[in-house]
Parts: sequence; C-alpha cells; structure tokens
Amino acid sequence: MTVNLLDFDAAGLARFFAEQGEKPFRARQVMQWIHQRGVTDFDAMTDVAKSLRAKLGEIASITVPPAVRDTVSDDGTRKWLLDVGGANAVETVFIPETGRGTLCVSSQAGCALDCSFCSTGKQGFNRNLTVAEIIGQLWHAKQALGDFGVGDSEERLVSNIVMMGMGEPLANFDNVVAALNLMLDDHAYGLSRRRVTVSTSGIVPAIDRLRDECPVALAVSLHAPNDRLRDQLVPINRKYPIAELMAACRRYLDKAPRDFITFEYVMLDGVNDSDAHARELLAATRDVSCKFNLIPFNPFPGSPYRRSSNARIRAFQQILMDAQVVTTVRKTRGDDVDAACGQLAGQVQDKTRRTQRVVHIAQVHR
Ligand code: SAH
Ligand code: SF4
Repeated sequence: MTVNLLDFDAAGLARFFAEQGEKPFRARQVMQWIHQRGVTDFDAMTDVAKSLRAKLGEIASITVPPAVRDTVSDDGTRKWLLDVGGANAVETVFIPETGRGTLCVSSQAGCALDCSFCSTGKQGFNRNLTVAEIIGQLWHAKQALGDFGVGDSEERLVSNIVMMGMGEPLANFDNVVAALNLMLDDHAYGLSRRRVTVSTSGIVPAIDRLRDECPVALAVSLHAPNDRLRDQLVPINRKYPIAELMAACRRYLDKAPRDFITFEYVMLDGVNDSDAHARELLAATRDVSCKFNLIPFNPFPGSPYRRSSNARIRAFQQILMDAQVVTTVRKTRGDDVDAACGQLAGQVQDKTRRTQRVVHIAQVHR
C-alpha cells in the first residue's frame, strides 16, 4: 500500500516527510509540484533529489479520482463525474462568469440529511469523501481547464470555490478543513478566504468549529422562516432550530472573512414563497448581518415541488430589498445537463435504505 500524497494538507505533508527523515522544505517543494503545477509524476519533479524521487515512487503516489464523464452545457457550465470507487461517483461543476469562475465541489457520496427538495438527499448516503477526493475535484478541474501554472490570480479560470456540490460539508469536517487548507495555502492553490465558501444546512457545533479552525465565507441554507416549516424542509432543524442557528451565525461573524452571512432560500411554489414568509424571514434574521440568495427550485425526477413563478420570486425579493437587505436571485446555470443546484446526483450506493423507502412509497402510491 502506498500513501496518497493528495490526502495531506501542508501540516500533514510536513509530518509525512519528517517521518521519512526528510527536511520540511522538501514537503513544500512536492506540494508546489502537485498543487501549483499539476504534476503527479515524481520523476518530473526536477528540483527534488533523484534519490528522494525514487523513494517517493516506492512508498507514495499522487492519485486523483478518474473522471468518467465530462459534460458541457449550452451556457458553458461544465460538469465532471468522478469515480470514487465502490460504484460511487460524485459531481463537480465549473461555472464561468465574466470576471470570475466558480467551482462547485462535493464533500460526500450522497447526503444523510434528507432535505425534502434535494436530489442528493433523496439518493441516500454512502460515505464521506477523503481529502484526496475533495481536493482532487479542484485538481482535476484545473487540469482539464488548463488552469495550472497560471501565476497571476487575476487570470486564473478557477477563482472561487463553493462547497455546494453533493453532501453536507460540515458533516465531513476534518477532511473538508484539510481540503480548505490546501485551497487557501500560498504553496498550493492560494485562494483568498473570501473566495472560498462553505454552504451548510446548519450544523451548529460545526459552524463554531469552522469559525475557530478555518474561517471562510459562510452560506447557510435557511429555506424557511419558521421552525414549523423548516423542520419539514430541512430536517436537521429539529436538532438545531432557527434561533440557535442565528446565534451561531452571529458568533461566526466575529471571525469571518466577510462581514455578512449568505442565507440561501430555495423558492418553492406555494410552500415558502408568500409575502408573509418574506416578512417573517426578515424578522427571523433581524440580528444577523446577511445577504439573501434566492434559488429558483430546480426540479429532478420524482420531486414533489414546483418552482415559484418569476413574478413571485421578484415580489419576494422586493420585500427583502425594501428592508435594505441585499438580495440576489441565483441564475440557473447548467440545468440542461442537470448541473444546477440540487440536481447533482452522481451515483450513490445508498446505505441508509432511504432509496428503498422511496421506491417502496412510489409502489404504494401507484
Ligand atoms: N449540504 C449543503 C451544501 C450542498 S447543497 C447545504 O445544504 O447547504 C447547495 C445548495 O443547493 C443548498 O442551499 C441547497 O439547499 C440547495 N438545493 C438543494 N436542492 C435544491 C433544488 N432542488 N433546487 C434548488 N436548490 C437546491
Ligand atoms: Fe444534504 Fe444539502 Fe441536500 Fe440537504 S440540501 S440533503 S444538507 S446536500
């Protein structure tokens, strides 16, 4: 068994090299080869001593999960399906925009949290992704886009990362933080904390840990203005209700790289999108410096909801804006290739029996 060096952030790599009796600067050199130049062949690392290269070739590898599908949408959005073994596959999406390019990264094969409007949730859960599988998504995207070795951060294609792919990032805390460390590290991807966003459904103790260990921009999937409705849409709310979540957001802002939290709010026709809901939402978030991002619901096969009309979304947005809260409506990108928010399905060997339950329910109702 060789050790996959893609599983290590700077501290982990330094430890591994120390165990081999090698100097810390060697770890840094190898890190730059892997994460700045996109090199996975030890023999190509020309400033590393030959003897060390030979040793690394025996005890270590740099293994990126292979892409089994690469789809380009009409709007330029690109989606890769990466094989992570055991018949599981996860999706990564690149969204090019003027002046920036955002990579949407997955953190788990499936998701255990079972939000009622989410395709990933409906697929059940298999396991956490390893650090190599998380950072491998960025590595792979940069390789495929020809974005390695582009020195000037202004010219890079991948300028922003959002942990908004499959899975709940804060339920895979340690691996996600190690991957975030690599995204931020000047000897690796060197992205600013403000351009790396973790999106969470609201695991309160983990929000506090993230604040202490690796504060990056934070997005919180709120989706409902009261506990009664949120309990149904986002079941983790039964454990961490809205008042506790708002308190965690306030604590997070003490150390956050941005002075606001982004609240994501999926627009579900007739469910959470009335004028009264908008006003209730303003009251619920009153004490948190925030912006709202309204996400038109993206349907998937078997989903029980409809997207709110554009007129309804605009009216909802106007109420929030009239209260001086910046509110954007997320553009639906890549939906022709099922790459839009909440449509990512990958391939999950469900261990929760949830998919069985869904099939069972479908049979009962037929
Ligand atoms: N688990 C994390 C991050 C992944 S989901 C979280 O829940 O925040 C990224 C965003 O897409 C979340 O805000 C999620 O609620 C939203 N989403 C999920 N399903 C969706 C759908 N069908 N249509 C639109 N947005 C959806
Ligand atoms: Fe999991 Fe996020 Fe989907 Fe909820 S919305 S099931 S937390 S991926």
